[in-house]
Amino acid sequence: MAEKKWVYLFDEVEKAEEYVGGNWDDVRALLGGKGSGLADMTRAGVPVPPGFTVTTEACNAYLAAGQKFPEGMWEQELEALKEVEAVTNKKFGDPNNPLFVSCRSGAKFSMPGMMDTVLNIGMNDKTAAGLVKLTGNERFVYDSYRRLVEMFGEVVLNIPDEAFEGLLHEYKEARGVKSDTELSAEDWKTLVEKFKAVVREHKGFDFPQDPNEQLRLATEAVFKSWNGKRAVDYRNAAGIPHDLGTAVNIQTMVFGNMGWDSGTGVAFTRDPATGERELYGDYLLNAQGEDVVAGIRNTKKIQELGDEMPAAYQEFLVICDKLERHYREMQDVEFTIERGKLWMLQTRNGKRTAKAAVRNAVDMANEGLITREEAILRVRPEDVDTLLHPQFDFEAKNEARSQGTMYASGVNASPGAAVGQVYFDADTAERMAKEEGKDVIMVRPFTKPDDVHGMLAAKGILTSEGGATSHAAVVARQFGVPCVVGAAAIRIDLDKRLMTVDGKVVKEGDWLSVDGTSGEVFLGKISTIAPTLEEQTDLLTLLSWADDICATPGIRSVPEGWPTRGLQVWANADYPADARRARSYGAVGIGLCRTEHMFFEQERLPIVQRMILAESSADRKAALDKLLPHQRADFEGLFEAMDGYPVIIRLIDPPLHEFLPSFEELLEEVITMRVKGETEGLAEKEMLLEKVQSLHESNPMMGLRGIRLSIMMPEIVEMQVRAIFEAAANVTLKGVHAKPEVMIPLTGTVNELNVIQPRLVEIAESVRKEKGVDFPYKFGTMIEIPRASLTAAEIAEVAEFFSFGTNDLTQMTYGYSRDDAERNFLLKYVEDGILPQNPFQTIDREGVGRLMKMAVDEGRESRVDLEVGICGEHGGDPDSIDFCHVIGQNYVSCSPFRVPIARLAAAHAALKHQGVAIAEDK
Ligand code: PEP
Ligand code: MG
Repeated sequence: MAEKKWVYLFDEVEKAEEYVGGNWDDVRALLGGKGSGLADMTRAGVPVPPGFTVTTEACNAYLAAGQKFPEGMWEQELEALKEVEAVTNKKFGDPNNPLFVSCRSGAKFSMPGMMDTVLNIGMNDKTAAGLVKLTGNERFVYDSYRRLVEMFGEVVLNIPDEAFEGLLHEYKEARGVKSDTELSAEDWKTLVEKFKAVVREHKGFDFPQDPNEQLRLATEAVFKSWNGKRAVDYRNAAGIPHDLGTAVNIQTMVFGNMGWDSGTGVAFTRDPATGERELYGDYLLNAQGEDVVAGIRNTKKIQELGDEMPAAYQEFLVICDKLERHYREMQDVEFTIERGKLWMLQTRNGKRTAKAAVRNAVDMANEGLITREEAILRVRPEDVDTLLHPQFDFEAKNEARSQGTMYASGVNASPGAAVGQVYFDADTAERMAKEEGKDVIMVRPFTKPDDVHGMLAAKGILTSEGGATSHAAVVARQFGVPCVVGAAAIRIDLDKRLMTVDGKVVKEGDWLSVDGTSGEVFLGKISTIAPTLEEQTDLLTLLSWADDICATPGIRSVPEGWPTRGLQVWANADYPADARRARSYGAVGIGLCRTEHMFFEQERLPIVQRMILAESSADRKAALDKLLPHQRADFEGLFEAMDGYPVIIRLIDPPLHEFLPSFEELLEEVITMRVKGETEGLAEKEMLLEKVQSLHESNPMMGLRGIRLSIMMPEIVEMQVRAIFEAAANVTLKGVHAKPEVMIPLTGTVNELNVIQPRLVEIAESVRKEKGVDFPYKFGTMIEIPRASLTAAEIAEVAEFFSFGTNDLTQMTYGYSRDDAERNFLLKYVEDGILPQNPFQTIDREGVGRLMKMAVDEGRESRVDLEVGICGEHGGDPDSIDFCHVIGQNYVSCSPFRVPIARLAAAHAALKHQGVAIAEDK
């Protein structure tokens, strides 16, 4: 029987695949995440510094045998090392041409807590001297050597790191220097000896000079670290099984500081800010990786490498292309050139801005690298949100950064860019914004519910404490105010009205620029840009692909007669201008027009009040006759803007007292008039007061509103329905395709609908007859009360469509006031984990969602083609949209600004659940 294979060279990935039976996940289990990644890169034809991986099986065998290498493993490791020597043309331990290696752990899942890295293995007194000859850089060599002794001492020999760091600290103090960079070659040479003495002191033996011994001990240390306390704790917390074991990766060290034909750099395969298909990165010749990152020397643009080392650069271009093709993603790479030879050290998917994410996705689909479906899934709906908020001008922000005006950074809590003057409390912030018209950045250590007025008045919010779900973060996101929280470097002195970071003082009234997208804060003003959707051609392309996905018949597996395409996106719009914006953002219907908003307009409110105060039905009718032409004109505008698309118009919903002056104000006025003996107008005021008092309810949200009001006072909705149908008839005569859908709010029992709907249908029909025109229409209801969901089958016998009013449905299901809960306790509930998220933002699937699913299922049992949508705030929330798809709704309706996000989220849902039958979908 052939000997068991414990060690795989990086170029032996096929053997590993064959051993595990072809499954890549099993290769990852055998070679670990890091090892399989290095092997995969090698297979892709990328020059990776050669090396090999000792398998997780070897680790498990070692641990099972009571810390004994399995038979043949060490020999295989030495054999593999020979192969590495052969391909690198170097020799482990040879002072004239030394090979050095790194040793890293690498389990199937990335796992902090395990042994990390030992670099420069193979260095000893002799090879160090040899490397000095080769590089001429004595300082670098002895710094590297002492790093080996230190890392080896700490992670392999378990010597506490203070033993080395304390000594280094003392040494620097004695030499009177602050940073490592001030130490000379001689200093490092001295420190190597001192560090070696530390090893002797702690372990009673010398730091091993034999490179093989170093390698053997390092390999063992990695194996042992699998059962180290931190690793075990981490696995327990992360739910990672304890029997996976870790692999050990041994890899050739390459040096970018071996002279002017060497160098090192980092690059993105595409511009991570704009997404442009152009390399973006920096490098330095004769330098180590750290020099590029540390910014001590000025780096050069990657393109200049083309002049300095044309051959290596050409090879680099080809490799970047290869990597993109292999991983089908924009890559963030690290490379080193050692004496003219290019090595790739690392590649990973690059982080990028939202703009770049969209552009990359569209370009890569057009280049044939990925499919359109993949392109859609690569852009998060939240990224679209970011793109539609004002952003800092990229160049201006870079400029600010290079001028050193970056002040602090924290958690990027709410996206967007804000520029304003700093104020340190909510009252001042509000006053400065409202009375003095200033752009305000409100700065607090943290915020509380009674700071909300200041936060709403501010252009941006900054706190020094708190995280992504802190009060400041949650409120800012909710209201779309850019916000950075937890900028811990900031010290705020509320008494002195100033804040400091490293001695840099910002006083009240000073200007600040807050980037809620990145979490950065800058001194002074940075210019912003607010791109319109029309300008964002890549996003428009992506959204059109998203629409195509949703329009695919059969993409949803649903019961017979249900919609098999994905969700449509409609918009909530009250006025023709909103409807036009909604159309331009891609909405294909109006899901909610709140007609009462029109009642509040200046010339209409007195008529509405007259209608409410009317003593007789005739007086009320007279007032309503005056309102009718206004409403008709509004609706004509909506139908014209939505030519050919459905428009859902909701009949009056709020309680009538909302249209009248407040009881307290009126009472005060009446008392003042009486005290002053003023009689003129007093009688009317008293009458109004009496009426307001008679309409007063302790719990108006559960009172006389919605369909209940229509039943008690049918004249209002009769006027509204007449206005809707006259408008539809008028525009139809002009050639517009009107599709009115009349929505009755707040139904709780089908009996309510039975009372009111037939009367309204009759009006609709008679208007159509009077006008002599035909157009399609529907009558339906909102589902906002749990009882409506519970009796959906009955309700659907009358209603032709359902629209979930999830604002009220959430309020009534939880029994939380939608107006006060967030202020009083809800945000704390979210912060403390009592609720996983704010149910007024994201649908609570277990509770509210269950009622919704029941309503769809049972509603469609009565009426299989029942049209179902959502018009509560959740209609623009990606997670809630996913749920609406899963339960089989026809559309979601949200604010026009959120339509693009919803279009992408709807496509995500369609792709994610493709082929999953509704009954099985969770
Ligand atoms: C709802 O309750 O979700 C809804 C859309 O109606 P409104 O917000 O007007 O009560
Ligand atoms: Mg409602």
